[in-house]
Amino acid sequence: MYQRNVKPLITPFKKMTKYIGAHVSTSGGVENAPLNAKAIGATAFALFTKNQRQWVAKPLTRENISKFKKHCETAGYEPFQILPHDSYLINLGNPDKSALEKSRSAFLDEMQRCEQLGLDRLNFHPGSHLNKIGEEESMRLIAESINQVLDQTHGVITVIENTAGQGTNLGYTFEQIAYIIDLVKDKSRVGVCIDTCHAFTAGYDLKSREGFEETFSHFEHLIGFEFLKGMHLNDSKKELGTRVDRHDSLGKGFLGMDHFQWIMADSRFDGIPLVLETPDDSLWAEEISLLKSFVK
Ligand code: ZN
Ligand code: MN
Ligand code: MN
Repeated sequence: MYQRNVKPLITPFKKMTKYIGAHVSTSGGVENAPLNAKAIGATAFALFTKNQRQWVAKPLTRENISKFKKHCETAGYEPFQILPHDSYLINLGNPDKSALEKSRSAFLDEMQRCEQLGLDRLNFHPGSHLNKIGEEESMRLIAESINQVLDQTHGVITVIENTAGQGTNLGYTFEQIAYIIDLVKDKSRVGVCIDTCHAFTAGYDLKSREGFEETFSHFEHLIGFEFLKGMHLNDSKKELGTRVDRHDSLGKGFLGMDHFQWIMADSRFDGIPLVLETPDDSLWAEEISLLKSFVK
């Protein structure tokens, strides 16, 4: 079965503490993301490096890049505190050959943008089989997509996000994520992001203490915390196991507040970006300070 013989990249100077933030706007340019994060008291952030609903985007300019780096430096963000997210259009498991090629080249562009910005990881949704091929066949396409993009880039880790399993989306079980990782040649450049809303609606009961412990010991057993490169902290508008992806603000949905407290008090979640993707951005500053207050 799955082997963990090669350790993933360890970011140097990583402090063992919690880094908490939100997926902030890049309106006006990527260089605004660190400023927007700073303004809400974030110690981590996520961003899109291009419009997430379009296939093609203007390349980043030298000005975008230098200002982004300068703003990260002055606001105190290092790469391991930042979790860029790729476009929603990309499907690395697409059974259609030309659609797959389009996704692979868009994903390469996303990885290169991260390289240019000096970022060390890129979060993406694994892909969908579209009911045209089986799950395993689609997951093999996803792994091959990862292998191809890793061959063409340097220093950026591909971070697979677990999904709610809505529609034909893959990656809704840890077994599926382990299956993909197992087929990735360079284990030092593949990681995982756990979205709490997605995990819950995929059927992982994070709401109860026993379910929380069981879920993360299952994760440790199948994948391992050394692969955990980020978390998305979201409450859920839908119930356990519904396989629907609808985020809610902290404490307002079916997940409730307890598991956020457990995460904040647990050192297994240290040293990685913990990012809100909650729907009401006017609450982010409050949600971040609440999460910070849970850290022991
Ligand atoms: Zn996502
Ligand atoms: Mn997410
Ligand atoms: Mn989602």
